[in-house]
Amino acid sequence: MAEPNQAVEVCCPTCGRTEIVYIPKEPIPACPDCRRPMVLRELLREGKSY
Ligand SMILES: [Zn+2]
Repeated sequence: MAEPNQAVEVCCPTCGRTEIVYIPKEPIPACPDCRRPMVLRELLREGKSY
C-alpha cells in the first residue's frame, strides 16, 4: 500500500521554532530565522497503531 503523506513536527535546534510539514511531499525546511536545517521532532499520527 502507498503511504499517505505523514505529518511531522520539525524544530529548529537553534531557536526552537517548530513547523508542521508533510513528508514525503514536502522537504524538511530550513529555519527562516537561523537558516539552519530543522530537525524532525515528532511524528504526528492520526491513528494510534502502537
Ligand atoms: Zn531557528
